[in-house]
Amino acid sequence: MTAPACPKAMTYGPCGGVAEDGSCEVAPHPCAFLPLPTVRWPGDRVTRPGPEPRLLALLRQRPVVVADLPAVALSRGSLERCADLVAARVDAVLLGDHAAARVQFPPAYRAALVQARGVPVWQGLNCRDRNRVALEGELAALADLGVGAVHCVTGDHTATGDRPDAQPVFDLDSTQLAAAARAAGLLVSVGETPHGPPAQRRPHRLVEKARAGAEVCFVDHAGGPAELAEFVGAATDAGADVPFVACVAVATDPGSVAELRRFTGLRLPAGYLAGIEGARDPRRAGVAAAVALAEAYLAVPGVRGVDLSGVAAPGTEATTAAALAEIGRALT
Ligand code: SF4
Repeated sequence: MTAPACPKAMTYGPCGGVAEDGSCEVAPHPCAFLPLPTVRWPGDRVTRPGPEPRLLALLRQRPVVVADLPAVALSRGSLERCADLVAARVDAVLLGDHAAARVQFPPAYRAALVQARGVPVWQGLNCRDRNRVALEGELAALADLGVGAVHCVTGDHTATGDRPDAQPVFDLDSTQLAAAARAAGLLVSVGETPHGPPAQRRPHRLVEKARAGAEVCFVDHAGGPAELAEFVGAATDAGADVPFVACVAVATDPGSVAELRRFTGLRLPAGYLAGIEGARDPRRAGVAAAVALAEAYLAVPGVRGVDLSGVAAPGTEATTAAALAEIGRALT
């Protein structure tokens, strides 16, 4: 029998979207990579001439706070307002996918707008919307802009977003994009989902991403400090010599709690969202919960930073950015 094909045409799979029962994020069959051994990256990591990037040096010196920047898609004003709110409160902002809108300003344009407000940018780049030529152009522009870092992901399939009419590209995958970004001279991060099947092989997949060029790993919502420590320990033992940045879910109102609940694969400490939802002052409770979880994550050996990640309900982008700034100030 022929093995099912990966709808993202990945070489270095599996992606982070494998369901808990091992089924594919997109197609009605098991993930194509489940029966396969971890795909090895051929060759050695590209070395970067010159001094260590600022954010990498900072990760070695003290805990670093990154925040997903909420903003209305395709709105320069919203992007700039939200950047101003978090300026000097966090070390960098991660500009990734929008929860509800696949169409966004091009990555390098968004990075330029935010950087112009004095906020260091950790730019997200996915393989869904651009082929390798377009991605190489974005990487060149990001390097020219001098962004802090680039976060390389394969990306969700177009079938799962608000533009299922768009053709998915997936000319590269996250591992290959990490290599291209490193070759462009950028500081490179990748993500890994500790509990994503096959969970026991996720640490080894990270090792291959690091061999390709990744220097930082963002750990998706792991469940809690114990689960995070287990993954970081396993990845370190496997040879992933990178600092880890743990994702911290931020919810400060019933709308953002509801948005987070829509992510079925999200793992959070027991009662985390219920505690915020049931509080008399959800904003205050959400900020306190995020600060406590971030501090617990930062106490895990190998974890050098946190990424404050929340999904702003429509109309709450600025208030969410203000909450992220408050959390950032409490942590730095
Ligand atoms: S779950 Fe992801 S990696 Fe696995 S077959 Fe589907 S798209 Fe490919």
